[in-house]
Amino acid sequence: MQAEEYNRRGKEMVDYITRYLTTIRERKVTPGPEVKPGYMRELLPDSAPTDPEDWDCIFRDIEKVIMPGVVHWQSPYMHAYYPALTSWPSMLGDMLADAINNIGFTWASSPACTELEMNVMDWLCKALGLPTFFLHHHPDSTGGGILQSTVSESSLVALLAARKARIQQQKRTDPADRDLDDSVVNSRLVAYASDQAHSSVEKAGLISLVKIRFLPPDDHFSLRGDTLKEAIQEDRRRGLVPVMLCATLGTTGVCAFDNLSELGPVCTSEGLWLHVDAAYAGSAFLCPELRGPLGGIEYADSFAFNPSKWMMVHFDCTAFWVKDKYKLQQTFSVDPVYLRHENSDQATDFMVQTTYI
Ligand SMILES: *Cc1c(COP(=O)(O)O)cnc(C)c1O
Repeated sequence: MQAEEYNRRGKEMVDYITRYLTTIRERKVTPGPEVKPGYMRELLPDSAPTDPEDWDCIFRDIEKVIMPGVVHWQSPYMHAYYPALTSWPSMLGDMLADAINNIGFTWASSPACTELEMNVMDWLCKALGLPTFFLHHHPDSTGGGILQSTVSESSLVALLAARKARIQQQKRTDPADRDLDDSVVNSRLVAYASDQAHSSVEKAGLISLVKIRFLPPDDHFSLRGDTLKEAIQEDRRRGLVPVMLCATLGTTGVCAFDNLSELGPVCTSEGLWLHVDAAYAGSAFLCPELRGPLGGIEYADSFAFNPSKWMMVHFDCTAFWVKDKYKLQQTFSVDPVYLRHENSDQATDFMVQTTYI
């Protein structure tokens, strides 16, 4: 009996969703003036009901309580922020994922999770025309892709990995730094971005305590190689240690493209981690004829974009690739005994490659 009830309620929800999406044009994109901060409080009881409520009653709350305060991002009349469109295959996939409800922190916690992610990230890497060193499955590659929740998180993860590698290198190669605490070396690090870069780069600096220097772009809002080179030289003279450049392909303000083919060689010769934020515009690289701005990507250490912005995949979905998985592992590895498994040596455990767990 219960199974029948689930099935009926599930179909009801699918019907509601279909109706919502097919009639979305009839809804005003933004909430009316009656929706003020705190609007929901008076529509809800003070605390959760002690007795169970009828499902029909709960279902009616969607229109009564939630929809009045919804901004309809899927509406064709929605032109704020950026496109964040979903699609029915994406939604159905999510329904299945919700039902299976796996937590894939290690390979063993559900092998299909990790294996699917690795294979699809490889497909996506090839589809965008990214370098083969970002592939999990390639004889010469030590890199790979991983899903993150946001590009903001990816920029932070890249900065933390770059920071770790730089601090270690500094302690290995500079006798004056050898016995210093990591935090002391950290205080001399500096990273770069164009002054058009997304606010998350500044936030990554706040979290990591790495100074971020925002550099002026040219007349086309594109950051150029010489500007970066001069900044690096100036900072070295001041005793700072340059660690990373976050270049943007498709800036938030005007969709400008930093000049990767100039910036890449500077990063390589100066030993900087080159992270590429293509959050919004990255989806366009699916079209070979639009890959001009990717020139120089062969110098990148990491690259991130959002399928959840412009590729009809629902939020959250950020694709993030690194050239050297080991640099993530040395940054994020903790090895609790309760998560070890008999395939630990051969398998990829995504938990050691991100801030998660
Ligand atoms: C949207 C955007 C971001 C932020 O993406 P999140 O995934 O929301 O963190 C960062 N950089 C650029 C260029 C963007 O367009």
